[in-house]
Amino acid sequence: MADTLLAASNLDAGVALVAAVTTDLVAEIRDRHDLWPTATAAVGRLTTGAALFGVGLGSNERVSLQIAGNGPLGTLAAEAWMLDERTAGARGYARNGRVELPVDARGKFNVAGAVGTGSLQVTRSSGIGQPYVGVVELRSGEIAEDLAIYLSQSEQIPSIVALGVLANPDGVVAAGGILARALPGADEGALATLEERAAAMPPVTQLIARHGDANALLRELAGDLELRSHHAIGIRFACRCNRAKVEAVLLGLGADELLQLTRERDRTEAVCEYCKTRYVFTAQELGDLAQRLTG
Ligand SMILES: [Zn+2]
Repeated sequence: MADTLLAASNLDAGVALVAAVTTDLVAEIRDRHDLWPTATAAVGRLTTGAALFGVGLGSNERVSLQIAGNGPLGTLAAEAWMLDERTAGARGYARNGRVELPVDARGKFNVAGAVGTGSLQVTRSSGIGQPYVGVVELRSGEIAEDLAIYLSQSEQIPSIVALGVLANPDGVVAAGGILARALPGADEGALATLEERAAAMPPVTQLIARHGDANALLRELAGDLELRSHHAIGIRFACRCNRAKVEAVLLGLGADELLQLTRERDRTEAVCEYCKTRYVFTAQELGDLAQRLTG
């Protein structure tokens, strides 16, 4: 089953839910970055979180999550945005993807140990004006709880977040997540009930491996609570890089620096940290860029 984001709500109870199946998306990130299993779990959770946060984005809007941790993974980042009206795009990376820590007694990845302590920054860009930026200290480092804390502290939205990535050295078996939030002005009774259900629920990866669809996640969390206005969109890996953006970064180095590079080497390479696309510039091309700056 293709990766999906499925949103639904119960306006009377004052809760909105969104579930994500991101198995193929996380598998592609793992393959592009050659991530080891613990790193796959961390980047997969954060990217799935970005996808859940991105539900309802307009065409020029974007949500970016960044974790600055002192663990072996280094900085983690993920983004989601709309590719068209029916498909979201997402991407993510870890500064160091070659991280593998022993699983705990229950067989769970030690994501908190790989992330370390630090902060979570969320940036919401609308394409016009200043982006909205919020930062919270990491409390658990397991990512899902940190995203829920961010929503309640920084955006005053009481929420439940569950994220899961089941990965082994051969690949990604299942990945996905679920986000429930109280709607503005709603009393938090319904959310408290969902919180109890979330605590007793099987891991999301187990539900995805068993049922394979986002609706099963919603049903499992909602229980007796009736959900309406289901809205599904696709989600897939995508990147926002292109040669013009790399040129803009190179131009930012200034003419002297560019000319220095042309003297030092025949070819200069820039690699996109999200998709690993390699952009190559010859000394001639860098010289032309420098020419643009000096006019
Ligand atoms: Zn890229």
